[in-house]
Amino acid sequence: GVPVLAVDGPTASGKGTLAAELAHQLGYHLLDSGALYRATALAAQDAGISLEDEPALAELAARLELRFTGHQVFLAGRDITDPLRLESTGGMASRVSVHPAVRKALHALQLSFRRAPGLVADGRDMGTVVFPEADLKVFLTASADARAERRYKQLISKGNSANIDSLRADLQMRDERDKNRAVAPLKPAEDAMLLDNSHLSVEASVEKVLGWWQQ
Ligand code: C5P
Repeated sequence: GVPVLAVDGPTASGKGTLAAELAHQLGYHLLDSGALYRATALAAQDAGISLEDEPALAELAARLELRFTGHQVFLAGRDITDPLRLESTGGMASRVSVHPAVRKALHALQLSFRRAPGLVADGRDMGTVVFPEADLKVFLTASADARAERRYKQLISKGNSANIDSLRADLQMRDERDKNRAVAPLKPAEDAMLLDNSHLSVEASVEKVLGWWQQ
């Protein structure tokens, strides 16, 4: 079958950067599964649907008109690249993602990203639920301080203002919700390789994972 490399981990652990670089170096497709939950949250906001309304959210998720082109993302023809990445959107996505019917609605869409020559899948449950047969599962972690600091630098470099203490509090709250939900909680697959990148550069992390991949 088509090879799959799963990269899971908590908020701001560097998964997105690592997964994109791995996909680039391997020449594989990339699935940013968080973007699907984020887009569902934005679509709900637009439609005035409550983040607690599981059936309505699941219906939205099943009919998501999403298009990824290079670095841009379109929802029903509208460019949502910038709003998609907002911290507030990540928070809404985390609330949307607790609903089993939403997770179920996004399942088939996620599977459709598995196309030749291969897939790097980034998320929370890629190795545990969506691609349990993945050829390699990496569970990326980093200390809360390291993650808050990275997120802070990212925001500042884009000209946004940010407060490191409130960023740390937000990402810890999101992690707690992701870990404690009933369906597909955030946790490493039993056969996942754990990688703590608190003190590793992106290049060093990529090298480490490519080493495992080639074994
Ligand atoms: O990774 P990202 O920050 O874009 O994910 C946003 C939120 O979507 C996460 O906090 C999590 O609640 C949810 N998510 C999920 N399962 C995934 C990817 C993301 O529940 N596979």
